[in-house]
Amino acid sequence: MLSDRGSKSSFKRKHNSASVYWFIFCGDAVLLDEAGSVPVAAACPVALQPWQTVFELPPLDGVECRGVALDAPFTQEASWHHVGLREAYRLMPLAQYERAGKARELLYWDAQTRFCGVCGAPMKRHTEISKRCTQCGKEVWPQLATAVIVAIERADELLMVRARNFRADYYGLVAGFVETGETLEECVQREVREETGLEITDLRYFASQPWPYPCGLMVGFTARYASGQLHLQRSELRDARWVKAADMPRVPGRMSIARRLIDDWLDRQGRADVKERLNDF
Ligand SMILES: [Zn+2]
Repeated sequence: MLSDRGSKSSFKRKHNSASVYWFIFCGDAVLLDEAGSVPVAAACPVALQPWQTVFELPPLDGVECRGVALDAPFTQEASWHHVGLREAYRLMPLAQYERAGKARELLYWDAQTRFCGVCGAPMKRHTEISKRCTQCGKEVWPQLATAVIVAIERADELLMVRARNFRADYYGLVAGFVETGETLEECVQREVREETGLEITDLRYFASQPWPYPCGLMVGFTARYASGQLHLQRSELRDARWVKAADMPRVPGRMSIARRLIDDWLDRQGRADVKERLNDF
């Protein structure tokens, strides 16, 4: 909501709570205690330096949340560990994980906007989600990199691809970043055409998901095959294939919208049994 931008009160709350959830990051790794929770304490359990900025985040179940980035991992508590945010999904309560994603995005934005892009002077925090240049007054807010992802079906098959940048040996869905000057729908059609040589029809919005790796928004769609032969863009894809429900390969974990799209397709195929058997990582 644009009208919220720059509002000094947007994240302000009463500071009457004895405990705070502390989202303490080192790089993309969040600090978790032995129970897989972020530390809960009235004061930050890590001694902070004057230049380290604490971000206020929306509360969880009435408990205040704050985020801070460390230059080096916290090692004072033997049973606490920094865990990469993707991996932390399996350890943390879901609501905490989602808040951790927001914290990570804000801290990343903070680190990337120390100086003004116009005049080079230092930027200063203006609100919880904006900064202002100390010289020229330019104002900046966290920016999202928007990407689309699409589940394309043809009869009883789903188009699955193995991207070059996938770290593991699994198959996902066609996806790509939105370019300037194009609509989400144009982006889906372009990505599908570029990566696979196919044309699609019946493009429908499915859902969206914040993707804090480091500052993304994934917008999911479903579509049906219209025409064309599979012709891979080798710079992007290792493989692409039409897959039946019974032949599902390893797929992305349940944290991803890719998996939600795949699960939705399996549901519509009447194959909830396959969905339950699939890996989760
Ligand atoms: Zn400036």
